[in-house]
Amino acid sequence: MGNHMLDAIRANARPDALFLKTAGSERWTYGEMLEASGRMARALVALSVKPGDRVAVQAEKSPQALMLYIACLRAGAIYLPLNTAYTLVELDYFISDAEPRLVIVSTAAEAGVAKLASQYGAHVETLNGDGSGSFADLAASQSAEFTDIERGPDDLAAILYTSGTTGRSKGAMLTHDNLLSNALTLCDYWQFTSEDRLIHALPIFHTHGLFVATNVVLLSGASMILLPKFDADEVLHLMSQATALMGVPTFYVRLAQHPGLTPEAASGMRLFISGSAPLLAETHELFKARSGHAILERYGMTETNMSVSNPYEGERIAGTVGFPLPGVELRIVDQTTSDLIANDGIGMIEVRGPNVFKGYWRMPEKTRAEFREDGFFITGDLGKVDSRGYVHIVGRGKDLIISGGFNVYPKEVESEIDLFDEVDESAVIGVSHPDFGEGVTAIVVLKNGAHLNETEVLARLSERLARYKQPKAIIFVDELPRNTMGKVQKNTLRDRYADLFK
Ligand code: ATP
Ligand code: MG
Repeated sequence: MGNHMLDAIRANARPDALFLKTAGSERWTYGEMLEASGRMARALVALSVKPGDRVAVQAEKSPQALMLYIACLRAGAIYLPLNTAYTLVELDYFISDAEPRLVIVSTAAEAGVAKLASQYGAHVETLNGDGSGSFADLAASQSAEFTDIERGPDDLAAILYTSGTTGRSKGAMLTHDNLLSNALTLCDYWQFTSEDRLIHALPIFHTHGLFVATNVVLLSGASMILLPKFDADEVLHLMSQATALMGVPTFYVRLAQHPGLTPEAASGMRLFISGSAPLLAETHELFKARSGHAILERYGMTETNMSVSNPYEGERIAGTVGFPLPGVELRIVDQTTSDLIANDGIGMIEVRGPNVFKGYWRMPEKTRAEFREDGFFITGDLGKVDSRGYVHIVGRGKDLIISGGFNVYPKEVESEIDLFDEVDESAVIGVSHPDFGEGVTAIVVLKNGAHLNETEVLARLSERLARYKQPKAIIFVDELPRNTMGKVQKNTLRDRYADLFK
């Protein structure tokens, strides 16, 4: 049977070809990647990790941490990456929920985590950002020869917890084929080849940096420049050695504002990809004007990998996420009746395909509730398909506001407010209201030094939005609450202003 993911990776792995380099002098060929992950796979076996066991990893981003992901695939273990920002209190939930055999953390976190892990019968080893640690030592003493454990397409490769934007993170069970089929589709759709070199500045505990970025490089035999984090100066400097960048919208906001972004600076690059949160059309336009490149925006989530993408060859339209990927079926349905909605109508986005996960870890009821009988997954995102077939994301279903019986889509109101010169960003939420059910409420962050008051905002909006969409209150704040992935947490805002109209 072989190992579904590894066999495909090996098929593209030329031993002497570069797989990864750091901004410093570290270089890893594909051959070295296979040796290092082989040693680590042996170390996992030596620590009694059996196929199907979970290996929880809260490690700083490093080449070794990526090798550990590959080692888990090879040893048949289920890789379970954890956000490096999580505290001990948060780790308690993940470790008790996932019951890993092994937890790998930095030396600095070891003592605290060891106490916690022992309660759940997990063993702890260490791996640090510089590649040192007890797990690294154990791996170094092993032979590089390792026969990959057999894993079929439906065997679990990872449990990836969602970002926790709308509530408690859920563990999404992803199989070898969920990962492989999506990576192969993306390689093809975005035209990745062994000639490509990706600037990798995303975290590797999230689907974007771990699966999209890393698997696309691995499955095309390309290479990456692995950076510990995003830094606009550094990314601009490295563009001359690279061909592609994957980023969250904040990367592109920062780059577009950077004086160093010019057509010359970006001339060797062939592709800039954005996802994980909505890219403002304004950012798309500014980036294009400054660099000559149209950012390719795509849409996906932890549970589905990538589902929708703007085209490589065709027109990349700002404010849309493009077309369903080959092999992915997408439909828009009425949230209450489940009836199909025709083009241009807004409804719940549902997807089906080889990319869609097997369910939430130990949450059978939640899993049942989020899948239709015909296998479509209810994404929780609202959107529409326009007459040209482009998908538009309108926002999350949980964020929809119903005011006086009318649906108000926060994004529409936010887009109007964001057009004001004085405004940096905004978040529009529904707050319980005695007359309207929910009152549209806008939380606004002004640009440095800018002045604007509630009356002025309301006056300007009254010319542009129907009355029922106009906010009942405008609140000015210094910054919006975001989670560790940089996503705006509207439930925090809803809690904060719950009594506003009481
Ligand atoms: P949780 O499910 O725990 O509340 P989360 O949904 O933020 O957290 P992720 O799986 O990391 O966790 O994020 C997926 C979500 O990100 C999508 O459901 C969608 O709302 C949003 N998203 C991703 N890409 C885009 C995009 N290009 N435009 C708009 N939204 C996007
Ligand atoms: Mg989600």
